[in-house]
Amino acid sequence: MTPIDLSSIPLADNHCHGIYQTQRPGDLTAWRQLFTESTDPGMRSTHVATTLFYRRLIHEVAAFFECEPTEEAVLAARQQHDDHSLIRKFLRAANIDVLFIDKGYPPPELLVSDAMVSNLANCRVAPMLRVELLMQRLIAENGTLSAVVEALRAALNDVRGQGYVALKSIVAYRTGLNIRAWDIDDVEEAFAVARREVEIGGSVQLSHKPLLDTLLLVTFAEAARQELPVQFHTGYGDTDADMLLANPLHLRAVLERREYRAMPVVLLHESYPYTRQGAYLATVYENVYFDLSYGIPYLGCHEMVDFTRAAFSVAPISKLLYSSDAVGVPELHWISAMDGRRILGQVLGECVANGDLSTTEAEQAGVAVLHDNAMRLYKS
Ligand SMILES: [Zn+2]
Repeated sequence: MTPIDLSSIPLADNHCHGIYQTQRPGDLTAWRQLFTESTDPGMRSTHVATTLFYRRLIHEVAAFFECEPTEEAVLAARQQHDDHSLIRKFLRAANIDVLFIDKGYPPPELLVSDAMVSNLANCRVAPMLRVELLMQRLIAENGTLSAVVEALRAALNDVRGQGYVALKSIVAYRTGLNIRAWDIDDVEEAFAVARREVEIGGSVQLSHKPLLDTLLLVTFAEAARQELPVQFHTGYGDTDADMLLANPLHLRAVLERREYRAMPVVLLHESYPYTRQGAYLATVYENVYFDLSYGIPYLGCHEMVDFTRAAFSVAPISKLLYSSDAVGVPELHWISAMDGRRILGQVLGECVANGDLSTTEAEQAGVAVLHDNAMRLYKS
């Protein structure tokens, strides 16, 4: 089997996050915890260092810096660069055309600005709006449900005009992907609870299902009208997510509604471990797209090859989009770029060897998934 060489294809990273201004983790635990979704102290301090992902990261970063493949040597090597030159070094080596950045996390005050990322990486930045944060602000600012709904419609009236290329929802983290219409009494009751939280604490974390579902349906109507993509967190994430309700099959009620068909839906993180279910949805619903994320989830190569094989074997290639889901440190954007190109090249080489694709088709598929499909979808 000859792999397809995708090493020089510039990337459209269709889902990632910003980079911390300060690239100086205080100690080994602070560094290690960048590479786990767990909040358990022992996971962060100890066990994460034995994951295949982490071992590969240390080996690859050590090769990049030409230092010993140990954590101590890697940390010492990265500390020899100032924050901006470290970011520049990794992002330029990743050869990125566009970063599609979810603006909802981490908080902007911790991050390098989009303009600076663009400058350091020599790439474009396309921001995406996290809808739950917008909703939380509007609930805090408005005393009635109807005022919140009206303010949400107004805020989403022209999303591209505000500079965003897509919306992003973390409903899978909050109340699950089984979004549905509710009786108005249930919604009003949930709104009253949310407002009480605002009155007590000054803000609300929106986890009131009838209210969040209702505001999402308002959002989907706006997205459909503007043919604006909506990214959904699906599958793997931190312990906030009930993984059972993060299965993308729960989106059926939304996907079945004709009035939302003009809204492209992007299932993030290969819906891991529900990869086959997510890829299936991309085969039956014209508006469903499937994200292949190589930075996070933090996986070993076998699993990345497996989800890539599954996605290519099930979904149309025109629906598949590369991403890193990288957050915080540029090593993540970079290692995902390296792994993504290499693993896509391997799996596409297998597709040629087994007769699914010609070599030319496999090369075109690599460019489509790494770059062109995202550019078409987000009209960037
Ligand atoms: Zn993300």
